[in-house]
Amino acid sequence: MQKVIILKLLPSEAASEQLIKQYIAKAEAVNPSVVSGYHILKSSIDARSKQAWVNLQLRAYINEPSGQRELQTFCFKDVTNVPKKVIIVGAGPAGLFAALKLLEFGIRPILLERGKDVRSRRRDLAALNKEGEVNPESNYCFGEGGAGTYSDGKLYTRSSKRGDINRILNLFVHFGAEEKILYEAHPHIGTNKLPHIITAIRKQLLDCGAGFLFEKKVVDFIITDNRIKGVRTADGNNFEADAVILATGHSARDIFRLLHDKKILIEAKPFALGVRVEHPQSLIDSSQYHCTIRDRFLPPAAYSLVQQVGGKGVFSFCMCPGGIIAPAATSPGELVVNGWSPSKRNNPYANSGIVVSVEEKDIQAFKKHGPLAAMEFQRSVEQKAFNAGGGKFVAPAQRLVDFTQNKISSQLPDCSYLPGIHSGSLEDILPPFVHKSLQEAFVAFGKKMKGYYTNDAVVVATESRTSSPVRIPRDPQTLQHPQIAGLYPCAEGAGYAGGIVSAAMDGERIVDRINAVLQPASGK
Ligand SMILES: Cc1cc2nc3c(=O)[nH]c(=O)nc-3n(C[C@H](O)[C@H](O)[C@H](O)COP(=O)(O)OP(=O)(O)OC[C@H]3O[C@@H](n4cnc5c(N)ncnc54)[C@H](O)[C@@H]3O)c2cc1C
Repeated sequence: MQKVIILKLLPSEAASEQLIKQYIAKAEAVNPSVVSGYHILKSSIDARSKQAWVNLQLRAYINEPSGQRELQTFCFKDVTNVPKKVIIVGAGPAGLFAALKLLEFGIRPILLERGKDVRSRRRDLAALNKEGEVNPESNYCFGEGGAGTYSDGKLYTRSSKRGDINRILNLFVHFGAEEKILYEAHPHIGTNKLPHIITAIRKQLLDCGAGFLFEKKVVDFIITDNRIKGVRTADGNNFEADAVILATGHSARDIFRLLHDKKILIEAKPFALGVRVEHPQSLIDSSQYHCTIRDRFLPPAAYSLVQQVGGKGVFSFCMCPGGIIAPAATSPGELVVNGWSPSKRNNPYANSGIVVSVEEKDIQAFKKHGPLAAMEFQRSVEQKAFNAGGGKFVAPAQRLVDFTQNKISSQLPDCSYLPGIHSGSLEDILPPFVHKSLQEAFVAFGKKMKGYYTNDAVVVATESRTSSPVRIPRDPQTLQHPQIAGLYPCAEGAGYAGGIVSAAMDGERIVDRINAVLQPASGK
């Protein structure tokens, strides 16, 4: 017999298979010996009261073997000799999941990626962290797996209506992620594990005959009679295909510039900009779990905060418990920070972006840049931060209370950011509306979350690549650019996704449309 059972357990109980089986037996009034096993269907932590609880929804197997969890299977076709082909510019989550879906439809993907494979990319990240040197083609945003590879790997999204989240999670498991991402309320992979998954995806693509080329930066589009025929790469090669998916991410400024120069319609897009704040993880644990020391069966605590300040939204973004602040710039002379954490989230710091929404009315001074106004505004703040930080990606920083009181911190606390931090006034870097909104929001956050407003926390500038500052429009039905047939703007860089899962879903969505055009009778 199989039975779906809901249990509310102490964290220590939820960690014990034996105890869970006993609770199942109690709930079903059977002997524990007949409970052969269970599969967790949903798992979440409820830490609202003083005692934290783990809520589990399980499928219990009673008087029948439990077997393995049934996982989705996928059928990737060999496309080596298939004439229909699609160029995908950018091998981030959108590009990779689009490529996998093309294999399922029996269409040949050709991935062109400006950066390097995950392994070679690691050396460039080390140079950035240790020597403060950025490779503009290989960094935290560019290279195999895109910004998703050395990201935090949180796999939750609010855009559930835009695609099949479960399918994306199952694909991650198929390529090596742990099964727990299928049932946890807040699934997370971790920076240490993502590169193996990306490598496995590449192997699948190559085994099926897909093209996957690194250090192939697309620098031009081949367009005839308002239809895209292919692309040109920086080394002078032309690639032709039946369609082009443009999945270049939010940091491909040269692509936005290229589109604009070619008079292909793009639009400035609202985004958000601010800082990254880092607290001791123990402080966040105490606050969220209402304790002095975190129960060892509970994961490092996360938080999510939002505050309206004078009509502006200020919110936490990409919170990384047990994480590290990372230098996420893509060009010399610009300072950008982001965050990641390993799968165990076992660093002593908790960092999060705290960002302020930026709308058209806020950036009037950049109006002369037309649709690139938000991008130029973003770049100007990043450049100021770089110059204020003392070079080599040393980031300007202030203690949190000092930041709200316009005091230069005489000394800074330890910080996870490897290139180092440098005491300075963030008021000189951040636009006044951002600075003021952040100051007020931090005080308000302190009232919402005990211990948050403290000088033990450090504020680091700047968190500026939260989403794309440009939208590349597309027809809502065909998903093609309204002026250029066969050009499919995709995912985060085009303004249709934010985060790994939503980018992957957008890649799949585009491929559904492409398949309907290229193989109208395929019936899939
Ligand atoms: C440090 C960090 C932590 C993050 N943590 C999380 C997280 O926990 N959860 C989450 O959901 N999201 C996270 N993100 C964001 C997430 O990684 C992105 O939302 C996601 O990767 C966007 O996917 P994408 O495919 O649209 O674009 P990207 O991942 O940006 O990929 C675009 C790709 O296009 C390539 N490219 C650009 N221009 C060209 C060109 N001209 N020619 C050829 N190739 C080109 C780039 O090299 C890149 O590989 C994080 C990002 C960073 C940097």
